Amino acid sequence: MRTAHDIPIVPDATPAAQSYDENCRRCGRLAAFLDTVRDAHPDYWCRPVPPFGAATAALVIVGLAPGMHGANASGRPFTGDHAGILLYQTLFDYGYASQPAVAGRHDGMQLTGVRITNAVKCLPPDNKPTPAEMRMCNAFLAADLKALPAGGAILALGRIAHDATLRALGMRATALTFAHGAQHCLDGGRLLIDSYHCSRYNTNTRRLTTPMFRAVFDAIADHLRRARAGGERA
Ligand code: SF4
Repeated sequence: MRTAHDIPIVPDATPAAQSYDENCRRCGRLAAFLDTVRDAHPDYWCRPVPPFGAATAALVIVGLAPGMHGANASGRPFTGDHAGILLYQTLFDYGYASQPAVAGRHDGMQLTGVRITNAVKCLPPDNKPTPAEMRMCNAFLAADLKALPAGGAILALGRIAHDATLRALGMRATALTFAHGAQHCLDGGRLLIDSYHCSRYNTNTRRLTTPMFRAVFDAIADHLRRARAGGERA
């Protein structure tokens, strides 16, 4: 594991944290795109998708952005997206989720000890936000990460989520290198751990397999267990 307590923090690069805003339209391209998608699918959410799970959860999972017919339709991260199949099954297996699968925003799913969010809150065309949109939305991610308790963990799903997380924490983009399974120590005994995104492409091509994903969750469980034990001794 790379320890990085000496990683330079750039205080003036830390975005001012801003709480989720359902009516945000600061990214003109994304707001206009959502308007067209709403016309085609009036029953879809088609707004910024809020985080799911308690703000003080010890684990925050950061994805990329809502999928067209998944989170953008349901209004809940990874709900209806192919990527949510492996994610929610794994969360259920590790005791974070009350159900192994989702069936819409009002399916009664309860999360315990985990919060799921995205680096970009609005659906981007072709699933590709621009760098400017990533920067624009980063204040919301900063707010999502702000309440992470000491000893907590952040799971970044993919390189873009990793980079957005660093920015939201006020760190240089080059401070920590993304790699599947990489663990990066942060201030306050917090851990950033990387995984390949659990997307349809990655799981179909077996770039990410179920055992690989579970190994990441095993590492998270080990970290949280050690952090809890340390806190109890303190
Ligand atoms: S992507 Fe983020 S900053 Fe841009 S319009 Fe949506 S919520 Fe606002």
